[in-house]
Order: sequence, then structure tokens, then C-alpha cells
Amino acid sequence: AGTLDVAWARRFVAEAAQVVAENRVALSELDRVIGDGDHGENMARGFAAVTAALEKAETATVGDVLKLVATTLMSTVGGAAGPLYGTAFLRAAKVSDAPAVDGQGVHSLLDAALEGVVARGKAQVGDKTMVDAWHPAVEAAAAAADAGGTPAAVLRAAADAAAVGAASTDELVALKGRASYLGERSVGHRDPGAASSVLLLDAAARAAG
Ligand code: ADP
Ligand code: MG
Ligand code: MG
Repeated sequence: AGTLDVAWARRFVAEAAQVVAENRVALSELDRVIGDGDHGENMARGFAAVTAALEKAETATVGDVLKLVATTLMSTVGGAAGPLYGTAFLRAAKVSDAPAVDGQGVHSLLDAALEGVVARGKAQVGDKTMVDAWHPAVEAAAAAADAGGTPAAVLRAAADAAAVGAASTDELVALKGRASYLGERSVGHRDPGAASSVLLLDAAARAAG
């Protein structure tokens, strides 16, 4: 499997919707501690809407699917995460309109997604946001792609690095988003958006494997 196609993108959405639904309570629990307790509900609502939209949509490329994910998340997730994930998927869609995506292409779409999150939210590594999952994920994807990795290998490297990055948010002081209102009291708790980012990247890797 040297390339990913639209069937992978559809499997990714199905896997993501399932894992987000399974983790709805856990994600909201993380957000209850350092935010307003709605991140799991927001994401579950968004991916349920994506699943419904995709059933009715004709899609020819990975980019078509990612664009539908973007527009649906933007109109249904709300809060901080809706526009952030929406922008991420929209940027990723723009670099994946070819019929097939190889290992370097996977790196490109992940890199574009991170650029979208940063353009929208202006967070840096260490601010205790989803960027702390996405940044190491993109670095790991670059290394795996440069080593000639398959799309599945690139996605697996990204997802594993994202998990380490998300865990690193536990000890950080939040500097962006609602959690920043807590200042030092945000230390000792995982960022919910970093946690949901791991779920999405892991779903992408499993859909490719
Ligand atoms: P809200 O905070 O509006 O209720 P959510 O709970 O759905 O939105 O999402 C919160 C998550 O959004 C945080 O855990 C964090 O990962 C992410 N986030 C918030 N602000 C930013 C930002 N400026 N840049 C990157 N990510 C952010
Ligand atoms: Mg919230
Ligand atoms: Mg909210």
C-alpha cells in the first residue's frame, strides 16, 4: 500500500467518529477540569454530523472528504475547537486533491493542518493546546516520510508522537484558550484538544493500516 485514496479518507472519518463518540465523556471530563466541560460533546456532535454529511456526498479524492469534514466541523463543533479543526482540515484538503497520496503527501497534509491550527489560534509549542500534539506529530511524519515510509508508517509515527506530545501538556501552564484563565492551576491536567488530536491521528493511522 504505497498510496492512500478516497476510500482511506472515508474509513478515517468512520474510525474517527467512532472513537470520538467512545471518548465523548472522557474528553468532556478533561475539559471540565481546565475549561467549560464541553469538548467531548462538541467533537461528538461534529463527527456525527460529518458521518451524516458524508453518507449523502459524492467524493472522488481525499481532498473532497477532508473538505467536507472541514466545512461540517466549522458549522457544528463551535467553541475554540470548531474553527481550529475546521481550518486544519481545510488546509489539509487543499494539498490532497490528487487521486492518490503517498508518504510525502501524508506529511504535506499533516503539515498543512498544523499550519492551519497555528494561523487560526496563534499558539506555540508549550502553550498547552492541541499544537503540543500536532507539532511533534508533523516532525515525526517528516522523518518517516524522508525515510521512505509508507503512508501507514508516516501516520503511525505521527500518531505515536502526538500521544507523547499530548502527555507533555500535563505539566504545562496553559497560555491559550479557556484553560489559560486558570494560570498555574492548569498544571497537572491534560489539554483536551491535544487528547482529541491523538484520537484523530490514531484513527487516521488505523484506517491506513
Ligand atoms: P471551548 O474552549 O471554546 O469550549 P473546546 O472545549 O471545544 O472549545 O476546545 C478546547 C481546546 O481547544 C483546548 O483544549 C485546546 O486544545 C484548543 N485551543 C483553544 N485555544 C487554542 C489556540 N489558541 N490554539 C490552539 N488550540 C487551542
Ligand atoms: Mg470547552
Ligand atoms: Mg465551550
